[in-house]
Amino acid sequence: MKKIAIVLHGGADRATPFLKRNIIGSEKGLKEALLKGYTILKKGGTALSAVEEVVILLEDNPLFNAGRGSALNNRGEVEMDASIMDGKTLKAGAVSIVRTVKNPVALARTVMTATKHVFLSGYGALELANATSAVIEPDSYFITQHKYDDFLKFQKKNKHTKNTLGGTVGAVALDVKGNLAAATSTGGTSNCLPGRVGDTCIIGAGCYANNRTCAVSGTGDGEFLITNVVAHSISMLIELKNMSLQKACDFVIHKRKYNQGQMGVIAVDPKGNIGISFNTEVMRRAWMSEKGEPMVKFFK
Ligand code: ASP
Repeated sequence: MKKIAIVLHGGADRATPFLKRNIIGSEKGLKEALLKGYTILKKGGTALSAVEEVVILLEDNPLFNAGRGSALNNRGEVEMDASIMDGKTLKAGAVSIVRTVKNPVALARTVMTATKHVFLSGYGALELANATSAVIEPDSYFITQHKYDDFLKFQKKNKHTKNTLGGTVGAVALDVKGNLAAATSTGGTSNCLPGRVGDTCIIGAGCYANNRTCAVSGTGDGEFLITNVVAHSISMLIELKNMSLQKACDFVIHKRKYNQGQMGVIAVDPKGNIGISFNTEVMRRAWMSEKGEPMVKFFK
């Protein structure tokens, strides 16, 4: 059988009390999602389906900042972003400022497959969700006690206190046909301004896949992931400089002198090599070892 590979992340962050309290639960969630994706790949499914299904499970898990459990903006609202990209065709789908859609990553895939566009935002994304019978949930479904408490803390401090991260999710995979795919989904950053859009739904920043180079999913300070064009930069270092995947990830995260952001990436290349790099205290992540053992790690 040809090589398959899968890596996922549950966000780059500080070792927050919430994260420490929920280590076992988050490990379980990541492992479950990993096994789901791996099973799809093992059965000959596509990398695209594997990353979508993995991200859907993590969106449904309230311990991660995507779908249920999303961060709240400074008005206490949930606005979600997601994207998906197919490394074979270079087709992609993305959505931003999405509310009430249970699985934004599935809607991103619908944008890719059912429209002539790459990116739909706000009310247009919601209209597509309704037209394609995507699952809709009330606002209350998405808001967990933990994120609501965070919101109240921010309200007490200063409305303009710095945004915080907290568990964006993503997956990259290689399937048996040698195709790569990436998907990323987030509730954004806590206490951000309404209408703020991060890197997660920006193709080339928080998500990129190209069969010739690699598939990448990013997490961290979205503003910096966008301006550093993180995911596409990694692909370019492989394409133009022939760097190994891990070196390219490390270069973008650790060696660029002008990188001031807190960030992390997961990546896979067409040979099934995986790349993981982050400059935060923690990045919740999971991957399948060469021997087919599930690996889950949070700290360095
Ligand atoms: N990158 C996400 C954003 O800026 C946040 C995160 O990864 O935690 O929206």
